[in-house]
Amino acid sequence: MEDTMDEDRTAELQRRLLQVQQRIDRAVTASGRTSSPRMVVVTKFHPALDVQRLVTLGIRDVGENRDQEARAKAAEVELLAAAEGAAPAGVGWHFIGQLQSNKAKYVVRYAAAVHSVDREALVTALSTAMVREQRRRHEEGQPLRQSLDCLIQVDLDPRPPQDRPEGIGARGGVGPDGVMALADQIAGAEELTLRGLMAVAPRGLDPVPAFERLQGISAAVVARHPEATWISAGMSQDLEEAVAAGATHLRIGTDVLGPRPEVG
Ligand SMILES: *Cc1c(COP(=O)(O)O)cnc(C)c1O
Repeated sequence: MEDTMDEDRTAELQRRLLQVQQRIDRAVTASGRTSSPRMVVVTKFHPALDVQRLVTLGIRDVGENRDQEARAKAAEVELLAAAEGAAPAGVGWHFIGQLQSNKAKYVVRYAAAVHSVDREALVTALSTAMVREQRRRHEEGQPLRQSLDCLIQVDLDPRPPQDRPEGIGARGGVGPDGVMALADQIAGAEELTLRGLMAVAPRGLDPVPAFERLQGISAAVVARHPEATWISAGMSQDLEEAVAAGATHLRIGTDVLGPRPEVG
C-alpha cells in the first residue's frame, strides 16, 4: 500500500520530467522558436499522490480525460494538501477528453480549461454551468472563479470514421470546416474564454501534415479572435512534430508517468 510520499517515485518522476523537458528544449532549438510550449502532464489512471508529487516538482498544469476520475482526484489532491497543513495545491486541471453535456456542471467545479469543445450543445452547456457555478459561489460567499478557458478540438483525420483504428482521441473533434462557427459561439458565450485549438494526430498517420493543418486553421482563427492563440497538440510520441508546428501546449502522459496502470 502506498500511503506516504514515496521518495523513489518522486525521484523517478523528476528524472522523467527532466528527460521530456530536454526533448522539448531540443525541439524548440531545432525549430528556431523563441518561446517554449507549456507542458500539461496527463495524469489519467495515475493516483492523486502522483499529482501531489508533480506539484512538489513544480508542475501546475495537469490533464485528465474522464470526469468521474478527475473530479475525485481533484478533491483528493486538495485533501492531501490540507492534511499536510499546506496551502491549496494550486493545480490547473485541464479537461482533455470527450465530454458529455450533462457532465458540464461537474467539470466547471474543478477544471480551469476544457480542451475538447467540439459542438454547439457543449458550448451552451458549459456556459450555462459556469453561470450557475458563479451564482452558487456568490450565494455561498466564495470567491468567483476565472472564466473557463475553452479550446476547440479539431478532427484532423482524413479517413471516414469506420476506417480509423481505435485509440486516444479516435473519437471527438469538429471537422476543420466547423471550427470558425464554434469559435464565434465560444467567444460570445458568457463565462467562457476562447483560448485556441486542440488536436490529436490521426492514429497511424504521419503527424506532420496534421499538425501543419492545425497551425493553418489556428492562424485563421487568430485573425478573427486575436486572443485565441493556444495550440494544444503533441503527446509523448509526437511532441517534436508538435513543437515544430507551433504548439503552445503539449499533453504528455506516458513519458512522464510511465505506462498507465490497468484499472478494473
Ligand atoms: C492520454 C492522452 C494524452 C497523453 O498521451 P501519452 O501518449 O500518454 O503522452 C494526450 N492527449 C489526450 C487527448 C489523451 O487522452
